[in-house]
Amino acid sequence: MSSSPHKPLVYIISAPSGSGKSTLVNELLKSVRDLDFSISYTTRAPRGSEQNGRQYFFVSRSEFEKMVRDGEFLEHAEVFGNYYGTARRFLRDAEYKGHDLLLDIDVQGAEQIQRKLPEAISIFILPPDRKTLEERLRRRSEDREDVIQRRLLTASREIQNYGRYNYILINDRLPESIEVLRAIVWSERGHRADRPSTDEPTGTMAIADRCRLANIGERLKPILASFELPVESGTG
Ligand code: ADP
Ligand code: 5GP
Repeated sequence: MSSSPHKPLVYIISAPSGSGKSTLVNELLKSVRDLDFSISYTTRAPRGSEQNGRQYFFVSRSEFEKMVRDGEFLEHAEVFGNYYGTARRFLRDAEYKGHDLLLDIDVQGAEQIQRKLPEAISIFILPPDRKTLEERLRRRSEDREDVIQRRLLTASREIQNYGRYNYILINDRLPESIEVLRAIVWSERGHRADRPSTDEPTGTMAIADRCRLANIGERLKPILASFELPVESGTG
């Protein structure tokens, strides 16, 4: 390992539930080297095939509260009635290993990280429109109808925060979205002097730049309209 300390790049990914975030994150982790996933702690019960220590560390409320008191979290928040938190040790481990770190967290967590780590790179994933989001939530068939309706309402609220993120990724066609997400990661690495990029295809920066908040412009309008949000929303 090199003697100079490695400052990990921290990527924050947020999205309304059902947008395809888990699918995209899984694909990204398979194909990008030296990128660790921060496994969050949560008080919610495991779903389906979820395993402790893989998607999450599942803990009791009292265990979670003790971790908060002991200062073990970089950020934590209550989401859908359960606690979720990012353990500080994942950042330390990434630093030690010379890796970068990916956080899959909600908009409240993103705000806390942005205050503590202003250089973190934030990505907000959007569905192509409300109807598609509803279809994806149904197709996943993990939730009851009332939960799906609640997730759709929450989605509208969360989407209003898109303006706090560096990049906006509209998850329409999956293969394209994976390519764009990879381009963002590579492009950000390429900007770092201590991380000369070696294996990124040409055009990567241009693909990533199209998703920068400042460049997303007109592509957002129909999405916001489908959620009945004003076009000028986006600052929370
Ligand atoms: P999230 O993690 O954001 O809640 P998931 O990754 O579980 O969302 O995706 C929700 C559903 O939508 C899943 O059934 C997934 O296979 C599907 N999905 C994800 N991305 C796409 C896409 N680009 N096109 C079509 N279906 C998708
Ligand atoms: P789910 O229970 O569906 O896996 O996740 C619900 C929400 O909690 C998602 O928006 C997810 O990004 C968010 N989340 C997961 N882990 C954390 C975390 O450690 N901190 C915060 N603030 N949110 C998290």
